[in-house]
Amino acid sequence: MCYDFTIMESLTDKPDSPRAPWQVVLAEAIGEPAELCRLLELPAAMAVTARKAMADFPLLVPRPYLSRIQPGDPENPLLLQVLPQEQEQTLVPQFTADPLGEVDAPCGPGLLRKYHGRLLILTSGSCCVHCRFCFRRHFPYPTMAAGKGVRSNLPVGPEGASHKSDLTPFPWEPAIRQVIADPSIHEVILSGGDPLMLDDRRLAQLAWRLAEIPHLVRLRVHTRLPVMIPQRVTDELIAWLRGTRLTPILVNHINHPAEIDDSVAEALGRLVDAGIVVLNQAVLLRNVNDRVEVLAELCRRLVDLRVLPYYLHQLDRVAGAAHFEVPHAEGLRLVRQLRGLLPGYAVPRYVCETPGGASKELLG
Ligand SMILES: *Cc1c(COP(=O)(O)O)cnc(C)c1O
Ligand code: SF4
Repeated sequence: MCYDFTIMESLTDKPDSPRAPWQVVLAEAIGEPAELCRLLELPAAMAVTARKAMADFPLLVPRPYLSRIQPGDPENPLLLQVLPQEQEQTLVPQFTADPLGEVDAPCGPGLLRKYHGRLLILTSGSCCVHCRFCFRRHFPYPTMAAGKGVRSNLPVGPEGASHKSDLTPFPWEPAIRQVIADPSIHEVILSGGDPLMLDDRRLAQLAWRLAEIPHLVRLRVHTRLPVMIPQRVTDELIAWLRGTRLTPILVNHINHPAEIDDSVAEALGRLVDAGIVVLNQAVLLRNVNDRVEVLAELCRRLVDLRVLPYYLHQLDRVAGAAHFEVPHAEGLRLVRQLRGLLPGYAVPRYVCETPGGASKELLG
């Protein structure tokens, strides 16, 4: 019990207060396995393992997320998403560095164009958290952004885009040119990495540029920041998302109901209140959300916060993430069970991504 108290105290320090600037919270993110294990009362041996396992994708977890993890539980479903595990080093056939064939996709620098009517801009190469199952964990963002074909396994940390952003010209100019040139594009998706790693002033500039393109109708943001660092939902963010003629859509990434505490609920509520369409996508993950009660609870909680479950993704077969895979047949069973429990609108579409497909493939 006294441990709980210590943790509460260290986690409610200034950088983590609901009023702290998100950049401060971001800068305080944990990158050291020993510190993570100390804060969460986990055996020191887990830190040693994590240190070895994180060679190509370092540990990174913001403190607000950490505060939702029950101390002393190595099996905690939130912990499993962020703590590097020994299995990440195991080579498993069919789990590759670029499972979606995106590195060589012939679309141009800083953008992905796979589906009709939509263009995805790789707005930022960095994230506020390193999800161990991420299909972009081997993604050579810096070279993609520069439009070079050289592969490199550069891990990108929180210091990436945000600090240098004001000095560099718009790296997304080629994407904007493509949108202008193609009247069939009605929606731009800001993705990454995490687009909300950039500051609001820069994102506002991008939104205004996009709003000048007459055939563009919607602006969508794919982000994990509102759940990881709810302080990121600033008035300025809402202002640029709402401030153009484009219809704003924000897609969160929340995998487990315990990720949603009061501060996250409040942040999501402000987005919805502002008139932004707010959705959620989750990834089906072994030992994280592979039970129907957990998925149902996640969907209920989201709907009650006026956030609609959009996609449940089958894990992309990325090297280092094989231990997270839930077989397709089991996923189908889970989604059928969900349909028996929830209103239709609360059940996400269970999908996978196949290289070269015209859309995400509906599994059930
Ligand atoms: C997932 C994805 C989209 C969005 O697909 P929706 O089905 O509209 O959510 C767009 N572009 C790319 C490259 C994607 O991977
Ligand atoms: S936030 Fe998204 S892109 Fe970033 S590591 Fe997590 S899953 Fe990957």
